[in-house]
Amino acid sequence: MPHRAATVARRADAAFDAAVARLSDYLTIPAISCDPSHADDVRRLAARIRDDLAARGLHRARLLELDGALPCVVAEWLEAGPDAPTILVYGHLDLQPVEREHWRTDPHEAVEVDGRLYARGAADDMGGWVSHLAAVEAWLAETGGLPCNLKLLIEGEEEIGSPNLERFMDAFPEAFDSDVMVLTDCENPSTMVPGLTVSLRGLFEIDLTVEALSADGHSGLWGNMVPDVSVALMRLVARLTDEDGRLRVGRVEVPEAWVVGSERVPLTTEVIRGGAHLLDGVDPLPLRGRTAPEWMWRQPAMTVVATTLPTHDRKKNALRTTASATLSVRVAPGQDWRELYGAIRDELMRDPPGGVRVTVVAGDSPGEGWLYEPRGVAFEAVDRAYSASWGSPMVQVGVGGSIPFVALFGRRFGDLPLILNGVMDPQSTAHGPNESLDLSVFRKAIAANVHLYAELATCGLGQ
Ligand SMILES: [Zn+2]
Repeated sequence: MPHRAATVARRADAAFDAAVARLSDYLTIPAISCDPSHADDVRRLAARIRDDLAARGLHRARLLELDGALPCVVAEWLEAGPDAPTILVYGHLDLQPVEREHWRTDPHEAVEVDGRLYARGAADDMGGWVSHLAAVEAWLAETGGLPCNLKLLIEGEEEIGSPNLERFMDAFPEAFDSDVMVLTDCENPSTMVPGLTVSLRGLFEIDLTVEALSADGHSGLWGNMVPDVSVALMRLVARLTDEDGRLRVGRVEVPEAWVVGSERVPLTTEVIRGGAHLLDGVDPLPLRGRTAPEWMWRQPAMTVVATTLPTHDRKKNALRTTASATLSVRVAPGQDWRELYGAIRDELMRDPPGGVRVTVVAGDSPGEGWLYEPRGVAFEAVDRAYSASWGSPMVQVGVGGSIPFVALFGRRFGDLPLILNGVMDPQSTAHGPNESLDLSVFRKAIAANVHLYAELATCGLGQ
């Protein structure tokens, strides 16, 4: 089988320009799901993809429809027989909106510059699932079949947070029924190193309020004798942080083996500096004996996202009655958000400076993180497929934020092998202006998929 896969991979490589042309064609339709005026574009693209999948030899190509939802495109090829495993490939066809004035080229016309293809959706996520279509076509053209069964599911609402995906799971369970899932909408740590996403952080908010006076007071008369709520608020927030400004409450133990593996992730000072737009002279926070991936993906974090501190346009020389802040807290993967909230709350409520009244309230709709252990024969197959195509096994990466569809698949199908990969890299600027796909990554992704189907077919999955 590896021999046959190598032949198929060569065939896919010879057809690479056609795959880029197909991708470029899909990228001309502004399928922007958050904008109702583009709903027809989402539907038009979905119908075109459905027709293409049928024309390329996939079976039962169709649209899944639900009231009040944009459609999913599905198709399958199940001729490998009942003993062969079934792979579900998930991607999405919808796009983020564009701010045209910040684009150097037309966002809805793919343009190749220096080995990168620029267009909205090139990397997020049209290139992701089209890399599977190219691999499927090469298998069918070279051998007349696939080594395993395959279902393709392309969502139309990922960029608005997949609000109906769970309803689709409930209404069309057979479209999701599979032995292994490849969820192809994630990022690689570089164009040379393929990434396997295994964790997300959760998210909740805290509203903190400090009260001291029943009416504003003259700062000259009462300064030094009564509490300034603004200072009290800042001191309480500062309690939660260490000398570097990081959240110090609720840190978790990360397994030593993960930490050692994370040293292979190329998250260098330069990558952080460029990615986060640090000003000259401002440095990333010191690592203090941990790795950058651990700080960014595996430890809880806090950001002050709003305050009622006096603003310039409300300036007056007075001690104020009250001050409040909203804190956004990222929950470590696997951490219980209630425990983290409780620890932060205790720290804020203890021994209030000057006896000020402190109120702490958790915001609505907290989101849990997600932590996945990639183990078993499927992931050994993944390593072989990526070594053959990228020359490197996948490196485990995390996401510091939260992706609703990932959390949903994790919750519903966490007992299956979940392979979260994609064609994005740190320069892709998904969701931003001048989104682009590195074409060397696209080429390697197609080859990886060719090998992955062969390796998953023979790895002993489900036996
Ligand atoms: Zn995406």
